[in-house]
Amino acid sequence: MPTPMHILLVEDSADDAELLEIELIRGGLKPSIHRVETLGELTQALESDTWDVVLSDFHLPGFDAERALQAVQRSGFDIPFIIVSGAIQAEDAVTLLKQGAHDFLNKDSLARLVPAIERERREANERAERRQAEERVRVLSLAIEQSPVSVVISDCRGLIEYVNPTFEAITGYTLAEAQGRPLEFTRYDQSASNRFQPQPGAGSASSVYQAEFCNIRKNGQLFWEHATVSPLRDGEGGVSHYVAVKEDITARRSFEERLLKQANYDELTGLPNRVLMLDRLVQSIAKAKRSGTRTALLFIDLDRFKNVNDILGHRAGDSLIQEAAVRFGHCVREGDTLARMGGDEFIIILPEIEDSSLARRVAERVIETSAIPFTLQGQDLFVTASIGVTLFPDDGTDAQTLLRNADLAMYKAKELGRNGFHFFTQEINQRMQERLAIEGRLRGALDRHEFLLHYQPIVDLRNSHVVAMEALLRWREPDNNLRMPDQFISLAEETGAIRQIGAWVITSACAQARKLRVNGNAFQRIAVNVSPKQLQVAGFAQFVSAQLGQLELEPDALELEITESVLLDDSPETAVNLRMLCDGGIRLSIDDFGTGYSALGYLQRYPFHTLKIDRSFVSHATANAKAARLIETIVTMGHRLGMEIVAEGVETSQQLDFLREQECDFAQGYLFGRPAAL
Ligand code: C2E
Ligand code: MG
Ligand code: MG
Repeated sequence: MPTPMHILLVEDSADDAELLEIELIRGGLKPSIHRVETLGELTQALESDTWDVVLSDFHLPGFDAERALQAVQRSGFDIPFIIVSGAIQAEDAVTLLKQGAHDFLNKDSLARLVPAIERERREANERAERRQAEERVRVLSLAIEQSPVSVVISDCRGLIEYVNPTFEAITGYTLAEAQGRPLEFTRYDQSASNRFQPQPGAGSASSVYQAEFCNIRKNGQLFWEHATVSPLRDGEGGVSHYVAVKEDITARRSFEERLLKQANYDELTGLPNRVLMLDRLVQSIAKAKRSGTRTALLFIDLDRFKNVNDILGHRAGDSLIQEAAVRFGHCVREGDTLARMGGDEFIIILPEIEDSSLARRVAERVIETSAIPFTLQGQDLFVTASIGVTLFPDDGTDAQTLLRNADLAMYKAKELGRNGFHFFTQEINQRMQERLAIEGRLRGALDRHEFLLHYQPIVDLRNSHVVAMEALLRWREPDNNLRMPDQFISLAEETGAIRQIGAWVITSACAQARKLRVNGNAFQRIAVNVSPKQLQVAGFAQFVSAQLGQLELEPDALELEITESVLLDDSPETAVNLRMLCDGGIRLSIDDFGTGYSALGYLQRYPFHTLKIDRSFVSHATANAKAARLIETIVTMGHRLGMEIVAEGVETSQQLDFLREQECDFAQGYLFGRPAAL
């Protein structure tokens, strides 16, 4: 069964319409005819339905084929328009055909009607398909035009016919400039072996080409691209064109390069990092092994760098590290490795050396170059370096051992007063093992009640009365060995144990003060040393006040001794704690004055009550005129600032006389009493 054919018939005669229908059925069609006689009816029919063909009479009363044709064309639908008329002049027919009618037939010879309709329908279908194809091409070319990646089309010889606007934007070459040039004409390395080769005769053998390479823009800038070139085939399967799709991967490339760099180089200084350093060390060891030479490893650590970071901030710390890296770089030869381990630690590898003399010279140079002050934020800073040196094969035959031993030797250099270098020895090894062991034992010492306090009197120089007792921490190990603070305080600070230990010291010292009070002793206060680490803990001041409160002690029964470096610590916790301690009426004392930063401006910030002149000045006072003048100056300055002055480490009566002369208020030292249990 043929599908029904929708026919729109413009005809005023019902008889003629019937005739037409008979003819159509006879021709094998299954017509569904809608007949209209006026423009209005026609327009409405066009709007309300879809039609396979319009058959139109030439003359109607008040209407005609020409206006009907115009109405169909206005509708926008591509419907075959066939004129079927009785009396028509050839010229009229031609005029209408020119205007877009598809055919015309005479009512008297309708044999052509069905074939004409079928032909017109076929052609209308073809026109519709063509329109669709054209639309597809239009969208495709828009896609290429507006593609965010470069698209280049070449002929079968690989010569460019088309480039899209993205290509123009990226390379700086216009379509006209690119046309006729080889596909890869922007490639930087024109002699690269993996270049694209057109294979026009290769037929289906020719395949997709892919590569990543560097390109050069018209302005000379380089950029990276990932290119895929695919052959376009003609009807016979031969290659007619190539389409290259090119993606700018410069961002990804530089990211990858950065990653690679990050994996091997230190970001701050640009020096090789730990990973690359280890690699170089392993290579140097292998080389030395083959050639029967030595390799030296220098482990450099900046002295007191932590202070710079804590006090001046990380930005300043970073600049110092950068400056140090530059300076150390001048101390080595080409072929040596200077690396940054992280923090303030650097490594120098000296490969293939004969003996230790070069290592010694390099170490000396590093020490010398660090001796020049570093200028940070307008201040001159003295940050020296300590260096440990190991040699392959003398001190170790593998990288790990050499590194560990260099580290140990560096600690030895620090112990010996910093600002120097030390070669690794077996004795160092033993000492360090011991230190590690102490660290282990220190961990449980508080719980095992191994700490105790000794007290040392502080004496009023005017009347020789004891005004205060300084609590000094001692650690009695199970083997009865009594350890002094210099053997464990810095360790406890490093591990953080100082917080609990320090709290215990305050509690015990306050309890002792209470006992002394109850027993009617005349002393005024107890002095307790406080680590900067304790002051950084929020709530420290409240803790101290609570201890005093519990024991019903006046706040001025306690004096906290703080080293100068605390004054430069601008952490908010430290400031809050100091402020609250001051406000609570607890006395504050600057300990070991003269050994630290002596940033006098900071003295104004907090009302310190007492200033303790460091033992080193006192011990030289009677022999060294400069030391004497210093003490004189400190006493005068302290008094001017409203502080009381304590001289530490007074051992002789000459020292005592001198201090009295200077009108120093108080003194402490073996002359008056050694620290002892109460
Ligand atoms: P410091 O606060 O300056 O204490 C004075 C140190 O000098 C004490 O050493 C004391 O025994 C010693 N000394 C006193 N008079 C003389 C003298 O006439 N001649 C000589 N040669 N030395 C004298 P010690 O007890 O070894 O303490 C050393 C440092 O350890 C203290 O210096 C203090 O900074 C720290 N320290 C002591 N106890 C504690 C504590 O409980 N907590 C904290 N954070 N540090 C403490
Ligand atoms: Mg002290
Ligand atoms: Mg002191």
